[in-house]
Amino acid sequence: MINNRLLAVASYINHEKLADIGSDHAYLPIYAIEQRKVKRAVAGEVVQGPYMAAVENVKKYNLDNKIDVRLGNGLDVIEQNEVDCITICGMGGPLISEILHNGQDKLTNFPTLILQSNIHTEAVRNKLIALGYMIKDEVIMKERKHVYEIIVAERNDTGITYNDIELKFGPVLLTKKDEVFYEKWLREYHHLKTVYDVIKSEEKHVEKAAEILNDINILQEVLNIEH
Ligand code: SAM
Repeated sequence: MINNRLLAVASYINHEKLADIGSDHAYLPIYAIEQRKVKRAVAGEVVQGPYMAAVENVKKYNLDNKIDVRLGNGLDVIEQNEVDCITICGMGGPLISEILHNGQDKLTNFPTLILQSNIHTEAVRNKLIALGYMIKDEVIMKERKHVYEIIVAERNDTGITYNDIELKFGPVLLTKKDEVFYEKWLREYHHLKTVYDVIKSEEKHVEKAAEILNDINILQEVLNIEH
């Protein structure tokens, strides 16, 4: 019933109570309950249509007694200390990071966060660090031509810090640098080179060109490309 992307997210769930924020059809909490990965769950949705889809799906699977479908913005739908795992999937990094920022009063018990972003995952990492979390694991994967990143985060009880390169590319992903990682960042590298070649000799773009050149140099280092 669920796709490989959500299956990969679900593989990290092994908790008491889950909150899936932006749950849409509630596929993830339904799967997590059916697979006994959690005992109870909340499916949160801010938009009426997907909220109704979640309500109906939960009913269809006879899970009304285990999954509460709640209409509301981000982490507003949960109480403090109510859950020990939160998933936020299928959104851009900046939106995930905004949801975490606005709901930080619901993170004081440091629930495990499993976050799957479609783009700009760096924004998620920066927010996690600001909120006192550390990155336990990361996955980069491709499904139907789209590249997704998954971050598993827990309370930073080791005092670990991350440099700018780790925040951009992912501290765990950098240790693996698998095929999908190379594909994603090589595409970005070629894109930046094309843009740079177009603007490098235009005076009004001097600063932007310098910025892009810096990014190109970083990518060359990370991808081991000969200068
Ligand atoms: N999580 C599902 C998945 O990964 O397949 C659905 C992803 S869908 C692309 C994003 C969902 O997040 C939409 O249903 C949208 O209404 C919901 N959403 C966006 N912003 C939200 C917010 N601030 N709070 C709760 N839900 C939100």
